Parts: sequence; structure tokens; C-alpha cells
Amino acid sequence: MLEKEIRRLEFKGNISTNINIGKKTAFKTSGMANYFIEPADKKSLSTVIRYLKDCNESFFVLGGGYNTLVSENGINTVVSLKKFFNKFEILEKNNNEILINIQAGALLQKICWFCAFKGFIGLNPLIGIPGTIGGAVFMNAGTKDGDIFSVLEEIDVMDYKGENFRVKKNDIIASYRELKVKNIKDFIIAGCTLKLKKNNAKALMKEAKNQMTKRKSLQPVKEKSCGCFFKNPVNNSPAGMLIEKAGLKGKKIGGAKVSEIHANFIVNENNCSASHIIELKELIEKEVKKKFNVILEPEVKIVGR
Ligand SMILES: Cc1cc2nc3c(=O)[nH]c(=O)nc-3n(C[C@H](O)[C@H](O)[C@H](O)COP(=O)(O)OP(=O)(O)OC[C@H]3O[C@@H](n4cnc5c(N)ncnc54)[C@H](O)[C@@H]3O)c2cc1C
Repeated sequence: MLEKEIRRLEFKGNISTNINIGKKTAFKTSGMANYFIEPADKKSLSTVIRYLKDCNESFFVLGGGYNTLVSENGINTVVSLKKFFNKFEILEKNNNEILINIQAGALLQKICWFCAFKGFIGLNPLIGIPGTIGGAVFMNAGTKDGDIFSVLEEIDVMDYKGENFRVKKNDIIASYRELKVKNIKDFIIAGCTLKLKKNNAKALMKEAKNQMTKRKSLQPVKEKSCGCFFKNPVNNSPAGMLIEKAGLKGKKIGGAKVSEIHANFIVNENNCSASHIIELKELIEKEVKKKFNVILEPEVKIVGR
């Protein structure tokens, strides 16, 4: 029904029905989406958004799924830019700076390593963070060494009425793992422009490789997880330390487990369901509140019915 109607409008791209969207997330749990829509260009994205708005149909924008947990009861409609919005180009280059425009579905790691290789400085703090550029911008992804906002020049967004806007840095409000746009409540990121400085490529590549080695030694990077499950609380110990001190390292519910390597990582150790992860999350929240009177807030986006 939805597919037929959208196809009748100006739309290029893919529309799939009954897709196990959970398998498209890093947790690799199960959860069906009624519709999985991959618009091929901005016009088609706008067509879809307008159509969904007119039908009063909610939707979720999925990037790489590295920070998303989908309920096992499924979700209505998922829109993804990963397949068709993945190009990037250098807009301007002088002796000191470059401007690079990147579509939202491009992989952050591809861009980070490209920039390190070329000697463009600014993205090394994000080396090793999986996912798409759109997801990284929406989450203001980063580490203690820096976040993506610090190199953002502007973003291309579409509001939930299907209108395009180019938003300059001054109109972007970024905070820890969050990014908002002045005057636009809900938006889809279609792309962004980053401003990077030029530096010595050899030194940058060396630094990037060191960071990757460090990450691999401190995090369970080979396991099915979404990285840190909780945000670090303000003016307190890091969430992982609180979870570890609460004695929860290694704690399991079903196939979900608090990682032995990093206590802020919940991993899908043994074919777990989303509800196992949610139960474990709730147990962690309860214990950390009881022991330290700290309320942990999830960084991972939990979506679906
Ligand atoms: C091993 C591991 C290590 C990690 N380390 C870090 C780290 O050091 N720092 C860090 O910040 N994160 C880290 N993460 C988390 C994750 O990689 C980041 O949050 C990443 O930016 C998510 O990108 P994604 O494309 O996978 O987003 P998704 O999980 O697909 O989406 C996350 C959120 O962004 C929204 N979104 C995605 N694309 C768009 C778009 N185009 N327009 C509008 N909204 C969009 C989604 O709706 C959702 O709300 C780690 C994850 C793993 C698995």
C-alpha cells in the first residue's frame, strides 16, 4: 500500500517491507520494520517525508545502527540514507585549510582515515567510532579529545515537512552526545561540511594508528555492542567506573552481558533479545542509583513499539 503510493509520486530508491531491522544494528538483535525506505536523492527523501507526514506516520532515521537498539516488537517505518547518500568532495583547499562536504550516509571511519592519510587535521579524536556521518553529527560523536561539532562548518538538514535548510555553525547548538538546530525541532541530516586544517600526514597517520591500538586494548570492539551504553554523568565518575564499582561487571541477563573489558558496554554475547538488553540496562540504573545516588542516562537510542 505505502510502497505503491510512494512509487506513484516522484520517488527514486528502494522500499522494502518486513525487514529485520534489528539485524542492521550493532547489537544484532531482532525487530521487524514494516517499511525500510532508502531514498536515492534529496527530492525522493522529501517526497517520502511529505508522504509520511500527510499520513501521520511516524518514522525513524537509521544510520549505521551503532547507537541504536530496536525493540523486538518492531517499528513502523525506517528511513536510511546509507546506501545512496555516501559521497564526499573537497570544496576548497588552500595552504592551511580545507572544506570537505560529506553526505550523511558516508562512513565516518572512511572519512577519518582519508583525512589522516591526506594530512587534514581535526578528525583524529573520532578514529575508531563506527557509524555514518549523519549519525555522528546527530549524536555529536566524539571522545575526551574532541567531538565532530568542533570541525563542523555547516549542515544540510531536511525538516519533517520535507523542506531543505543549510544551517551554519552559529545556528547549531551542540552538547555532550547531542546536537540541536535553532528553530527546527525535528530534522534529518542530509550532509555536512567540515573545516579541517592541514598538517603532516605521516604524523597524523601515526597518531591515528596509536589511537586505534589504544581503543582495541580498552574496549570490546569485536563484540556486538553499541559502545558506551550510558552517558558519563556530570561532575561524577565515568559511568563505566560506577557500574564496575556496583559489582556489575560480567553480569548477565539472558544473552546480554555487562562487558568484562569495559563495564559501560552491554554486549550481545549469546543471541540475546532487545528486552534482555533493556532488563540489564534497568538493573544497572537501579543499582547505580541505590549505591551512588546517581541517575544514569542512556546514550544508546532505544526505538520501536
Ligand atoms: C565499539 C564502539 C565504540 C564506540 N565509541 C564511541 C565513541 O568513542 N564516541 C562516541 O560518540 N560514540 C561511540 N560509539 C557509538 C556510535 O558509534 C556513535 O554514536 C555513532 O555516531 C553512531 O552513528 P550511526 O550512524 O551508527 O548512528 P545510528 O545508531 O544509526 O543512529 C543514532 C542516532 O542518530 C540518528 N541519526 C542517524 N543518522 C541520521 C541522519 N542522517 N539524520 C538524522 N538523524 C540521524 C538516529 O535517528 C539515532 O537517533 C561507539 C560504538 C561502538 C559499537
